[in-house]
Amino acid sequence: MSEETSVAARGLTLVFTGNGKGKTTAALGMALRAWGQGMKVLILQFIKGSWKCGELIAAEKLGPNFVIRQMGEGFIRCSNDKGLDGHRAAAQNALEEAKKAMREGAADMVVLDEINCAVHYGLVDVEDVLDIIRSKPPGLHLVLTGRNVANEVVGSADLVTEMREVKHPFAVGIPAQKGIEF
Ligand code: ATP
Ligand code: MG
Repeated sequence: MSEETSVAARGLTLVFTGNGKGKTTAALGMALRAWGQGMKVLILQFIKGSWKCGELIAAEKLGPNFVIRQMGEGFIRCSNDKGLDGHRAAAQNALEEAKKAMREGAADMVVLDEINCAVHYGLVDVEDVLDIIRSKPPGLHLVLTGRNVANEVVGSADLVTEMREVKHPFAVGIPAQKGIEF
């Protein structure tokens, strides 16, 4: 679509959730599309940390308008012990970064990758996510990914897509593949 539309740009809140593969991939594809339109993209990854996926390598090549920051502590093994304190602090820090970027107008699209999982694990309060959606600048696109999205977030979003697993190679023991998973 190259022709201008007569409708004023309207920032949307988009959610990719569900148990099937493709949530983060969908957000990255949308981010690439936005970047191509000259928009500034900021991707803050909750939970994920220190794992050099292909998208991080790509982001370095795409330059300052396509930024990915891994803000997490890595995989969560147990959801109900003190071991979550570090994860919680990291998630709170990521939330603050998101609010700051929105306040300062640092991006036209903000992707909060795996934030739904952060809420599910109790690292982030759902009210804080609703606050972010409510305080979003009108022109900014906000993308939230991760399994188990809270109903309240669904209620506040403009678009919600649920990826449903039909088949996944893990089920027959095929491990993660370069270019597909990382
Ligand atoms: P991707 O990052 O590939 O788009 P995703 O964001 O939909 O996947 P997550 O729930 O964030 O999925 O999980 C990330 C990792 O788990 C990926 O390596 C992905 O391939 C794998 N995965 C996703 N869905 C499934 C599934 N249904 N069964 C097994 N592994 C899965
Ligand atoms: Mg994901």
